[in-house]
Amino acid sequence: MDLKALADSVRDCPCGQTHEMGIRMLKVGSGLTDQTGELLKEAGFSGRLLVVGDQNTMRASFGLEAALSGFETRYEIYPDLRVATRTEAERIAALAEEADGLLSVGTGSLNDVCRMAAAWKKKPLALFATAPSMDGFASYSAPITDGSFKTTLPAKQPEVILADTKVLAAAPEVLKGAGFGDMAAKFLALADWKISHLLTGESFCARTAALTEEALRRICRLADRVTARDEETAGEIMEALVLTGVAMGFTKSPRPASGAEHMLSHFWELKKLEKGELSDFHGRKVGVATLLITRVYEQLRGLEKIRAQKEEIDWAGLRAACGSFADEVEALNRPAITEQVAPEALEKAWPEVRKILDELPSAGELEALMRRAGCAVTSAEIGVSPELEALGMAWHPYIRRRMTLMRLRPMLEA
Ligand SMILES: [Zn+2]
Ligand SMILES: [Zn+2]
Repeated sequence: MDLKALADSVRDCPCGQTHEMGIRMLKVGSGLTDQTGELLKEAGFSGRLLVVGDQNTMRASFGLEAALSGFETRYEIYPDLRVATRTEAERIAALAEEADGLLSVGTGSLNDVCRMAAAWKKKPLALFATAPSMDGFASYSAPITDGSFKTTLPAKQPEVILADTKVLAAAPEVLKGAGFGDMAAKFLALADWKISHLLTGESFCARTAALTEEALRRICRLADRVTARDEETAGEIMEALVLTGVAMGFTKSPRPASGAEHMLSHFWELKKLEKGELSDFHGRKVGVATLLITRVYEQLRGLEKIRAQKEEIDWAGLRAACGSFADEVEALNRPAITEQVAPEALEKAWPEVRKILDELPSAGELEALMRRAGCAVTSAEIGVSPELEALGMAWHPYIRRRMTLMRLRPMLEA
């Protein structure tokens, strides 16, 4: 992927926003682990390097320690970090104070705590990806769990992203399927973004949306090869995942990559956390959530006409559903975001909404594609009970102040 061409493609963008990219180096190649030290030096890293990983990711990236011999390294290795908490981000930030740069070895939560720490301490950040399991590599923000609530905080886009296709290809199939599930979400993300733009006037960037669409097209073609131990496929998937992260960086919002399905997945995660339970991998949950919501959007697309009314939030129901994070959610919904959409405006815009929904694949097509790519496709597979599934479907739209078609459902008369 040519970073410069990518940055040039959104220069002087007609959407009016200035699109920035903080990534200086992106290398995805076979056997690249051994060159990590040289590549980091080439990218301007020097001196003391704080390396953060866990036992799995360090094992997966065998040879990395030797490759970093030119640095004064300090290793912070977790047994297994599954949740990025504010406490951990603060601990890594304290360690980062003594370093000239950070190297995060792994994906997901390991990247997120480093992204926060590097932002707070203004240190250069490099990621060494060990699996094509999610699309957050190039992201400028990080989902952080703080007490009982999870929120997305502004963080740091890494200067450097490195991935060895030998390591990616050897990653567990379940993680590769998760990466595909996170990409499948983009269909809904783009639809929700367009619908919000249509109804609330939220800014929309066609060029950035086109980047995500391009990544989506590329990855859908690879569905049959996702779980194979194939370096070329793993590399292509990695690039598609990075590309959607770059798109999020351009808009400084999660819109190009995250819609109602991510909110549903976050809701499930919070409810599990409340009981002290860990969730399945991000991309697996998001994939299942994508299918559930695609089915709802498919039904809505079938409605030729709708009647809309002003929303009356059932506060008692909302608070009971949210439990330990009810206060945070109530604050996000006073005033309700649906107040920006008049019922008559929604009725009038419905044909346009349906046109946007026409671009979605059918739930059947999507499920078949996801099965071929090794994704989870049912709630049972990701440890979400029928009760939790239903609770999430009803109340997830309230956990962010973000317009989605799911958020508008209470305005639609049956
Ligand atoms: Zn995601
Ligand atoms: Zn733009």
